[in-house]
Amino acid sequence: MEWEIKRSSNGCLLCNKGFSEEEEYYSALFDEGNAFIRKDFCTPCWGKGKEGGPFSFWKTKAPKKDRSVKTFLNTEVLLDMFMRLEGNSETHQKNLRYVLALYLIRKKVFKLKSFKRQSEEEIITLFFPKEDREFDVYNPNLKEEEIKAITSEMSQLLNYPCVELV
Ligand SMILES: [Zn+2]
Repeated sequence: MEWEIKRSSNGCLLCNKGFSEEEEYYSALFDEGNAFIRKDFCTPCWGKGKEGGPFSFWKTKAPKKDRSVKTFLNTEVLLDMFMRLEGNSETHQKNLRYVLALYLIRKKVFKLKSFKRQSEEEIITLFFPKEDREFDVYNPNLKEEEIKAITSEMSQLLNYPCVELV
């Protein structure tokens, strides 16, 4: 693998305080060369936490202890990451953008429009109906296992608990 994803500990990375029930906090994704690292910060520490220039961030909430909790991937966060990766030529970023594209096609956010070849590279054109625009995505020809590995790392990195409404 040309890139890896690491996950930081639970609780705030700066003050080490655990998050209490229903506390709002920030999760941020940092692109550190060949690794995406997720860091969580409590609201008072966020001002300092975001100084490192996160690649992407989102606000979330700690779940209540006595409720059943499920985790989910926020499509908006993934779409934001996809947009930010446009034009990046690093291999790990191109691979991630491709995997994000596959996920967003599955979630029906994008429609597959066409394939083309451009100097030895396969380019996939996607249609984004919500904004009536198209995106070109480079196909890195990942093996199925590589796609699975990236998808599972991506979910571990990005999922967060949400309270299930009964
Ligand atoms: Zn803190």
